Amino acid sequence: MVIMKFGGTSVGSAQRIKNLVPLINNDERKIVVLSAMSGTTNLLVEISASLYAKDLVKLKQQITEFELRYKNAIAELFSKKESLENANSLLNDHLNFIKSFTLDLFTVNEEKAILAQGELLSTALLNIYLAEQNISSVLLSALDFMRIDDAEEPDVHFIKKMISKSMESFSEEKLFITQGYICRNSFGEIDNLKRGGSDYTATLIGAATNATEVQIWTDIDGLHNNDPRIVEKTFAVTELSFDEAAELAYFGAKILHPTCVLPAKKENIPVRLLNTMQPTATGTIISNKPAPDRITAIAAKDHLTAIKIKSARMLLAYGFLRAVFEVFERYKTPIDMISTSEVAISLTIDSNKHLDEIINELQQFGLVEVDKNQTIICIVGTFGADKQGYASRIFDSLKNIPIRMISYGGSENNISLLVNSDLKKDALVSLNKGLF
Ligand code: ASP
Ligand code: MG
Repeated sequence: MVIMKFGGTSVGSAQRIKNLVPLINNDERKIVVLSAMSGTTNLLVEISASLYAKDLVKLKQQITEFELRYKNAIAELFSKKESLENANSLLNDHLNFIKSFTLDLFTVNEEKAILAQGELLSTALLNIYLAEQNISSVLLSALDFMRIDDAEEPDVHFIKKMISKSMESFSEEKLFITQGYICRNSFGEIDNLKRGGSDYTATLIGAATNATEVQIWTDIDGLHNNDPRIVEKTFAVTELSFDEAAELAYFGAKILHPTCVLPAKKENIPVRLLNTMQPTATGTIISNKPAPDRITAIAAKDHLTAIKIKSARMLLAYGFLRAVFEVFERYKTPIDMISTSEVAISLTIDSNKHLDEIINELQQFGLVEVDKNQTIICIVGTFGADKQGYASRIFDSLKNIPIRMISYGGSENNISLLVNSDLKKDALVSLNKGLF
C-alpha cells in the first residue's frame, strides 16, 4: 500500500482535480490524503474571525466568496446531472453548517469545526468525480480514526486500530480517499494537526498501515541542492536521509517539517517528494538509508541576530553557559547557532521580540555586542568525525566572503556559517560553484 498526499494547489481547481485521476487510478492499493483546495483554510480562518467579532456584514461577503469559488469549481468539474446535484447539495450542507454558527456562541471548538470544512469538501468532491468517471473509490472519514491525545500528540495506537477497522469491509478496494489535517481530540471534538498538517496525516497513516511508501505531491520536483530562486543551475537531490532532511527543515527548504517526518522515520517508511506538474520525474526520496558520502544541499535562513557576550568570568568557569542560556529561556527565545571561545560566546536568535530585555540582562555578564541582519548558511551532507576535506572545500569556495560564525560537529550532517545578509547571494552562488 502507498499513501499519496496532495497539497492545496494540487487540488486547487477543477482542472487540477481532474489531473489527479491518472496519478491515482491504477492497480496499486492506496490511500489518497488531500488538503483543502488552496486558499480555503485561510478563508475559513477569516470567516472564523468574523464570527468571533460578530461582524455579519463581513461574514456574508466571505461566505459568498466561498460559495462562488466552490460553485464555479463544481460547474467545471462535473458534467453529469446526478454528480452536479450531489456536489451542489454537499456544498449547501457545508455552507449551512458554517452559517449555523451565527446563532450560537462561538469559541475555539466551533472554529476548529469550521476549519475542518475545507478538507471535508475537497475529498468529497474528488470522490464524486471518481464516481462520475466510473472509478471505484472509498471515502474514509479521518474523523473516525485520526486522534490526538491530551498532550495534543497523535494517539498512534488508536489510529492504527481504527484505520484498519475503517478499511476492514473493503478488502477488494484499491482506492481510498481521506482528509489531511483534521482529527478529533481526546474529548472526541473536531480538532486539527495545525496548519500545514496534511503532510503529518500522510506520514501517520503511512506508519499506521505499514505502507511501502508515503508520497508527498506538490508543485516542485523534490528538494533542490540550493535555492533555485537565488542560484542558477540547481538540481533535485534524488536521495536524502531522514537526518539530513531534519537539518534542512529549519531552513525553509521546501521540505517536510521534522515532526511530520518522525512517524515515517520511526517505522522506516520512505517518504518521496513528487511533482504533480512533472509526474514522471524521480523527485526526492527520504529514507533511513545512510546517505552516500557527499555534500547534499545548501540552505539559508535570514533575519537572524547575532549576540556576542565577552566575559573574563567565563575563563575556566562552570555554570556560565547555563546562566547565559537561562536569560533566553526566560524570554522564550530559541537559540539557533552557537560558537564559543574561552572568553566569549556568540549565538544567534531569529526573534527580536525581547531583544532589548535580553541584552539588558546579558550585560551583567560582560560586554555585549549585537549584529542584526545576519544569515545562516547551512551545508548539509555526510560530515562524520572520520571524514576529511569537506571543511577545506567549503572555505575555499568562500575565500572572498567574510564569515561571522562557524559551527561544525554539532551533528554529522550539518556545517553552518553565519554571514551578513548582504553577502547571502554571493555565498550561495560561490558555494554552488565550488561544491557541486
Ligand atoms: N489545509 C490546511 C492548511 O492550509 C492543512 C494543509 O494544507 O496541510 O493549513
Ligand atoms: Mg497546505
